[in-house]
Amino acid sequence: MSDLHHPAAHAYDRPVASLWAASARLADQAPPALEGDQATEVAIIGGGVTGLNAALTLARAGIAAHVVEAGAIGWGASGRNGGFCCLGSAKLSWPAIIRRFGRAEGLAFLDLQRQAIAYVRALCADHGIDCIQGPPGEAIIAHHRAAVPRLVAEARFHTQVLGLASRWLPREALAERGLVTAQAQGALLLPEGFPLQPLDYVRGLAAAAGRAGATISSGSPVTGWRRDGARHRLVTGRGSLSAARVVVATAGYTRDRLHPGLAGRLLPVLSNIVATRPLTPAEQAAQGWTSATMAADSRTLLHYFRLLPDGRLLFGARGGLSAAPAAEPITRARLERDLARMFPAWAGVETSHFWRGLTDLSADRLPHLGTLEGGTVHYALAWHGGGVAMGSLCGAVIAEQIAGRGRSLPQPLTRPLPAFPLPVLRPLYLALAYGIFGLTDSF
Ligand SMILES: Cc1cc2nc3c(=O)[nH]c(=O)nc-3n(C[C@H](O)[C@H](O)[C@H](O)COP(=O)(O)OP(=O)(O)OC[C@H]3O[C@@H](n4cnc5c(N)ncnc54)[C@H](O)[C@@H]3O)c2cc1C
Repeated sequence: MSDLHHPAAHAYDRPVASLWAASARLADQAPPALEGDQATEVAIIGGGVTGLNAALTLARAGIAAHVVEAGAIGWGASGRNGGFCCLGSAKLSWPAIIRRFGRAEGLAFLDLQRQAIAYVRALCADHGIDCIQGPPGEAIIAHHRAAVPRLVAEARFHTQVLGLASRWLPREALAERGLVTAQAQGALLLPEGFPLQPLDYVRGLAAAAGRAGATISSGSPVTGWRRDGARHRLVTGRGSLSAARVVVATAGYTRDRLHPGLAGRLLPVLSNIVATRPLTPAEQAAQGWTSATMAADSRTLLHYFRLLPDGRLLFGARGGLSAAPAAEPITRARLERDLARMFPAWAGVETSHFWRGLTDLSADRLPHLGTLEGGTVHYALAWHGGGVAMGSLCGAVIAEQIAGRGRSLPQPLTRPLPAFPLPVLRPLYLALAYGIFGLTDSF
């Protein structure tokens, strides 16, 4: 089975040229690759926030856990994301979730997402992971007058149905909050979430998991998987790992060939980020954007952005159908053009970094936590570009399940992961969605 993306998307030995890699406080501990035939209780495929939280929680429960990561720790989305630790992980709207699963289940799903944010904050405090970068809360900027009634209604839905203390900030009030863009017509303010340096978070997690007794092997892609009686054997480049249970925590980097039970069930999509050089306080004031609040605009193909502690603007967006290196300059130019349109005072300010990575969508636009092979294979996948908080908590939840301390989970998370109809057409579905939303987002 061939991959959906150009091989460059899976070049695990290629370092990620992110701002995070250039500025991380914590060094990569570079655990050695798996060598020879080894055994453990729980093998975890993927050394991102999901896999490492599973490993940490298992190790703390006294259960032997071994993470096998194809690249460096945090090489996947976990070490290269926008650092928004926020509500998210589904692409289905809250009204749609409540219509489909009922109010109690919808609210339980929201509650789990809020717990996930609190969990990450507590984890960082407990393990001394110094990665939090800014104030709590998030602003959804109305990018067009037509988006205003929708966001005003959303604010009302948040307070009246979801019990969130969100509020609508009209256009006249944006300047005093330092939230002015050339397009902004007002903003929906959510009190939830906080920004973090993702690579420091994931490296801090790996260190905490190691201290708790988990084993971690980097540079160890799983290329084969077979049953050994009741056990599983994962074959990596230089060795193999036998385990009673396997946790799949490979998110957007999951290849169809990894496990037949997951093939054709995820759509990996590119998300792209540029970071500017540090903007001086005068430059920030000239634009009217001085807030370090996490922000996104109201487009379906949204932009996400935030000022970093050193004054840089991080500016990201999904999009781009090709992961080939030759396509990178095109995507970078598009981001720079969008940035200049939104923040005209910064048009021409050079971007010092550009990078991108894969995030994972499912056919039902919901995240999924489930099992295969009689409960011996666990997975937590399909974060829809929002797995920092939920991936972290769900990794821990899987570990709790394995330790026999499972909690009750909301239905939107636990339905079986559906296959895409005619999975071979996934790139076409994406191209169509980008085309349609690109049009509808313009008004
Ligand atoms: C550019 C970008 C920006 C984003 N911004 C945000 C954001 O601001 N907030 C947010 O919440 N989410 C964001 N996301 C999504 C978020 O980063 C992910 O949802 C989250 O990190 C998923 O974590 P994970 O541990 O499940 O997977 P990942 O971090 O992707 O880790 C999966 C790992 O599995 C490894 N792997 C894959 N196959 C194998 C194999 N066969 N053998 C061994 N290892 C394997 C990969 O190398 C990878 O390191 C963003 C994603 C991208 C790409």
